[in-house]
Amino acid sequence: MEINVERLVKRYADQGGTHVALDGVSLRVASGERLAVIGSSGSGKSTLLRSIAGLHAADSGSVHVGGRLVQVDGRLARDVRRLRARTGVISQQFNLVGRLSVLTNVLAGTLSGSPWWRTLSFCFSHRQRQSALDALERVGLADRADQRASTLSGGQQQRAAIARALVQRAGAILGDEPVASLDPRSAEQVLEDLVRINDEAGVTCLVSLHQVAWARRYFPRAIALAAGRVVYDGPTAELSDPALVRIYGPIPPRPVLPMEVAA
Ligand code: ADP
Ligand code: MG
Repeated sequence: MEINVERLVKRYADQGGTHVALDGVSLRVASGERLAVIGSSGSGKSTLLRSIAGLHAADSGSVHVGGRLVQVDGRLARDVRRLRARTGVISQQFNLVGRLSVLTNVLAGTLSGSPWWRTLSFCFSHRQRQSALDALERVGLADRADQRASTLSGGQQQRAAIARALVQRAGAILGDEPVASLDPRSAEQVLEDLVRINDEAGVTCLVSLHQVAWARRYFPRAIALAAGRVVYDGPTAELSDPALVRIYGPIPPRPVLPMEVAA
């Protein structure tokens, strides 16, 4: 599914004033594209991803996903709940219900739009269970299906969340720093799964990240936000040092060590 964001503005009330979190962001992502969203803390990454997912209304501008209106002029589309089911959101906090099995968590993706507790009273069909097992297989977790979700490692929980998005038949996966709290090896496994699913299933992937090196390795294109504006949109291979200074600010000078003064 393609994603179209036009002149999105979002302000937050801030100690009597307002703070502009998104300052006229426009963005086009083609169906099946894989894109990293980078920028320092507070630059607006989460606000942008939440706006695209239809989790909150911006103040002005518009968002379309898969050709369908998600929001315009500060109002969410009437059928936004149904649209939300077409995007899988994976965030930094883990997204599973810990005391339910991994398989049940993934099956929750088949109840797109329903609250998770509905899964408790649901009987899943054989076909639904098979599709959940297939999705777990694709992220290398088939042998964990019957385990409680709380017993998975952080990286495995994120991969189970990807499996749930697959079962949900999400046309786009929106990841809000999905690897921020993982060790490097687990983070790379999660990113490799996202890349594979993007390649094989053509699911559009928009993922915010803190590590420019990973953006370069796993994503052909990046957009960078600074203070709510797009300051870079292009190939990750062309993220030059001056571009990085524009995104993150100048690198502070290295402190001079006492032994260097003595020398
Ligand atoms: P990022 O994800 O890049 O760290 P955010 O989108 O979370 O950035 O935040 C962008 C700006 O909006 C920041 O200055 C942040 O403090 C502010 N902000 C985010 N959420 C809220 C909120 N719920 N209320 C007030 N200010 C917020
Ligand atoms: Mg954030």
